Amino acid sequence: MNILQKLLTHNRPYTKRKKTTAIAVHWVGNAGTSAINNRNYFQTTDREVSSNYIIGLQGEIICCIPDNEVSWCTNQANSYTVSIETCHPDWTGKFSDSTYRSLVELTAHLCKKYGLHPQRGGVIRHYDVTGKVCPKWFVPSSKGGSDTADEQHWKKFLSDVAAKMGGSGTASNAAASKPSLRYDWKKGQAVRLYKAKTQLFANDTTTTPAATLPAGVYYIYDGKQCKLGRFRITTRKEYCGKKPAGKYVTGYVSVDNFQEVK
Ligand SMILES: [Zn+2]
Repeated sequence: MNILQKLLTHNRPYTKRKKTTAIAVHWVGNAGTSAINNRNYFQTTDREVSSNYIIGLQGEIICCIPDNEVSWCTNQANSYTVSIETCHPDWTGKFSDSTYRSLVELTAHLCKKYGLHPQRGGVIRHYDVTGKVCPKWFVPSSKGGSDTADEQHWKKFLSDVAAKMGGSGTASNAAASKPSLRYDWKKGQAVRLYKAKTQLFANDTTTTPAATLPAGVYYIYDGKQCKLGRFRITTRKEYCGKKPAGKYVTGYVSVDNFQEVK
């Protein structure tokens, strides 16, 4: 399991948790946003919100606050829970397969670390603490969530965590083959945008996309990492670094859209 350390210096109380009696699972509640977007939101917002971990749309795991410290995620349960925020492609809140695999793996790892049993209260939803519809995929449809009436999404998740703790090798093998998030892209390097539509931004701070780009191979303009985990890209290798940038840069794209071109 690969965990990226992108520790916060803002919205982080720096308080060691005295006891840890549960892992609290959340959804980010913002369809299609990436793990690094949400992490950077915590780092910059004036609202008092944060999380120990965020799992992204490709299953990447970002640690924002060490899991032995308090985060501001689960209201009155913050003092005794490790929080995990989970990204989701749409508003049903359903997790992608790779996101789900990472969520199971990370939750199982934390249960082992803190001696918790997922099916005996060791794993909880935000919903269990405050009644909030969070994570939506695991909240009963009768309460506004997307889970079936008998909560089979949630029960399946808890049993998948328990099974993972029992030590089947298959899930970790699958995790090992997925691309990991990188920030060391170099000027002129080819990258593949693998989604049918990738959000393109006009600068490194706006959160409103200017356009979408079709899947294909693009090039890193200058290898400088910009805010919100974005890089400038261009359509042709010979455009890289060429001035004026405004003429040759296609726009800003978040690194979690890049795949290495071998
Ligand atoms: Zn929540």
